[in-house]
Amino acid sequence: MKMLKNKEVVFELTNKCAYHCTICPREKMTRDQGVMSMELYKKIIDEAIPRGLKFVTLLGFGEPMLDKYFLDRVRYAKEKGLSVSTDTTGYLLKEKLSEELINLKMDSIRFSCFSTTKEIYQKLHNLNTFDLAIQRINKLIELKNKYNSIYPKTGVYFVRQDLNKHQTEDFINYWKDRVDEVNVWEAHNWTDALELRSKNYKRKKTCGRPHSGPLQVRYDGKISACCFDFNSQLITGDLSKQSLDEIENNPNNINLKKAHSTGDMSKYSMCDNCDQMYEVPNTLYYTNSNDNKVGTSGNTYIPFDEEINNKKNETVSKS
Ligand code: SF4
Ligand code: SF4
Repeated sequence: MKMLKNKEVVFELTNKCAYHCTICPREKMTRDQGVMSMELYKKIIDEAIPRGLKFVTLLGFGEPMLDKYFLDRVRYAKEKGLSVSTDTTGYLLKEKLSEELINLKMDSIRFSCFSTTKEIYQKLHNLNTFDLAIQRINKLIELKNKYNSIYPKTGVYFVRQDLNKHQTEDFINYWKDRVDEVNVWEAHNWTDALELRSKNYKRKKTCGRPHSGPLQVRYDGKISACCFDFNSQLITGDLSKQSLDEIENNPNNINLKKAHSTGDMSKYSMCDNCDQMYEVPNTLYYTNSNDNKVGTSGNTYIPFDEEINNKKNETVSKS
C-alpha cells in the first residue's frame, strides 16, 4: 500500500459558485457542476487514513460553503482526528456556523478578498458582497476572541491585478493585526486559461505537482494530478469506482509522472502550455508568515496547534 504524498487530500466539495472573479478560470470550465455526496466523502477519508492521511483541505473550483453538508464534512474529518482547512470568500459564514467551527476546532480558514473598497471588490469578484464578507470575517475574529480560541487559524489573501495594485498597502495594514496570516500574490494564468502573467522566463522540466502534490479529488470522485486542472483534463482515476491502489497503478498516472520526470510534455498540451512550467520570480509579493513558501506542493503540513507549540518553544529557547 502506497502512502499519501503530503498526508493531504484536497476535496472539491462543489464546483458551483456565485462569484465570477476575474482571476478565476471557472468561466472557461465546461465540465458538469455538482456537489460531492457525503457517502463518497466518507469513503475516501476512510480509505485514505490507513495510508497516512492527516490533513483535509476543502477547496476546489467553487465556494465550499455553498455545500449544505459543509459543517458535517468538517465534523466528520475532525472526529477522525484530521486537521481541516478551507478557502472561502466568507460571505456565507453566518455567526452560527462560525461558532460551530470554533467549537469543532477547525484548523484553518483562508479568506480571498481582493480589495479594500466595495467598488473594486465588485469589479474583481463580480458580486456585491463586500460589506457582508468583511462583516462575517470580522465576526469570526470577534468570536474567537470572545471564546479565547486559537481555532480556526485565519488568513486573508489578495491577488494583485491592475485594478487593485494601488490598494496593496491598505489591504496589508487593514488585516495584519486582525488575522493570523496575510498573503499577497501576483496573479497567474491558471495553466493557460488566462493571460495575467508573462511566460518569458526560464522553462523548468516539471512543475512538481504530479510527483509531489496532494491527492486532488473533484466533486464527482475523479482524481486530478493537478490543483490547476479546472476542466479535469489530467484525470488519473475515479474514486467513485476505483480504489486508491488502482489509481496509483493507472497508466494515466504513470505516464504523466514519466513526462514530468523527463520534461517531455509532447503528449500533454495543457502542461506544455502551462505558466507553472516557468521560473517566474516574486510570485508571493508579501507574507507575514515565516512558514509560507511559493509552490506549496511537497511541503509537509504542520497542524495549527503544533505550529503554535513550536513557536512557544522557539520563544522559550531564545529567552
Ligand atoms: S470565489 Fe473562488 S471559485 Fe468562485 S469565482 Fe472566485 S476564485 Fe473562482
Ligand atoms: S504543468 Fe501545469 S497543468 Fe501540468 S501538472 Fe503542472 S501545474 Fe498542472
